[in-house]
Amino acid sequence: MTITLKKTVAEERASRAIQETITRFLKRVNAISAGGPGWTRPSYSDLESQAHAVAEDEARMLGLDISRDAAGNLFARMAGLDPSQPPLYTGSHLDTVSEGGAYDGQAGVAGALALVAALRANETVPPMDIVVTVTRAEESVWFPVSYIGSRAALGRLTPAELEAKRVDTGRSLGDHMRDQGFDPDALMQATPPAPARFLEFHIEQGPTLHDTGEAYAIVTAIRGGLRYRTAGVSGTWAHSGATPRDRRADAVVAMSDLVMAMDRIWAEMLAAGLDLTVTFGKVDAAGPTHAMAKVAGELGFCLDMRSANVETLEAADRRFRQEIERIERERPGIRFDLGDQSRSQPAVLSQTMADWVERGARHIGDRPGTILSGGGHDAAAFASAGWESLMVFIRNWDGSHCPEEGMDIADLARAVEAVHAAISKAPPL
Ligand SMILES: [Zn+2]
Repeated sequence: MTITLKKTVAEERASRAIQETITRFLKRVNAISAGGPGWTRPSYSDLESQAHAVAEDEARMLGLDISRDAAGNLFARMAGLDPSQPPLYTGSHLDTVSEGGAYDGQAGVAGALALVAALRANETVPPMDIVVTVTRAEESVWFPVSYIGSRAALGRLTPAELEAKRVDTGRSLGDHMRDQGFDPDALMQATPPAPARFLEFHIEQGPTLHDTGEAYAIVTAIRGGLRYRTAGVSGTWAHSGATPRDRRADAVVAMSDLVMAMDRIWAEMLAAGLDLTVTFGKVDAAGPTHAMAKVAGELGFCLDMRSANVETLEAADRRFRQEIERIERERPGIRFDLGDQSRSQPAVLSQTMADWVERGARHIGDRPGTILSGGGHDAAAFASAGWESLMVFIRNWDGSHCPEEGMDIADLARAVEAVHAAISKAPPL
């Protein structure tokens, strides 16, 4: 909900600085991309480094102290009044998926720079240091490793992960870091910064805020996941015209039974007030041995379940296994093999920081709602390293990770104004 309040001269000046910084930064950074459609800046590529150079240039214009860690993450510090206060790190990433959008990542860096620009415009010295943070390699489509830059900054990247190969070049993460002038060996010896606070503005990447007509919302948790990446069903290959119904062990029918059962279970769990998503993202019955005239004797699939709550994931997994037992019992000849299970832990975000941003928002006449994050973000890496972390989601539309990804600069500017008000007017964190 937004109430229009008359702005003071200082607030006007801050809003103008915010709007101008966001607009200019997005224009500059989005001029950097491989060929379209959309924007492509692979992790640890020259294009990502060029985008980082733009952020560094903007930070220099704001008079910030620049440093980089051995993985190439950028930190640009504005000194606060009290050096004993934990600093507020704020930012996001500038790499993109292939043919991605104009805002995923970029908006968070633009918002962080704009926040400092607003403080500078009014010559406000914040209570704590503010560190504009531009991470590397957040999109896990390039290397099969999550949150590379932020985990590197936090001392949590492993030597084995440095050997992961980039999907397009086949070269290792460590080699790509060296190509861009960074030092993976030094990184393994580095001491991470003391746990502090991390704030990330990010587009929602989902339709909720657009549907409810809210410009931004405070994120209370980032969903964790429970996944089966290499599951399969086996049955019996047979002739489609010659095999009677009661003699079949059809992998496609068994799979359909499982998909529909899980869709029902998902609906039941939602109705019980639980947070859950259930997605069979890949179902493969189109291998070289599958054919129109054959009853499928095998099928591969992936299952991705997400929730803000570990117990809910456990409960959904138990129901999933019960359904498999039922299907195997009811359909002789059918066997499921789930392969390995992988997990990511849900991240609980900081209530203290959420309350603080909420107080800032009230100063400018907003009452932001709360929302869950379905996707993973750098803020999850900071939270799991023991930092107090918070995300603010900005309304977006036409999807994300695609060229059509839409966002209104005014919505991001409004969220930055709320945080600016928290820093300059609300009681300190
Ligand atoms: Zn992102």
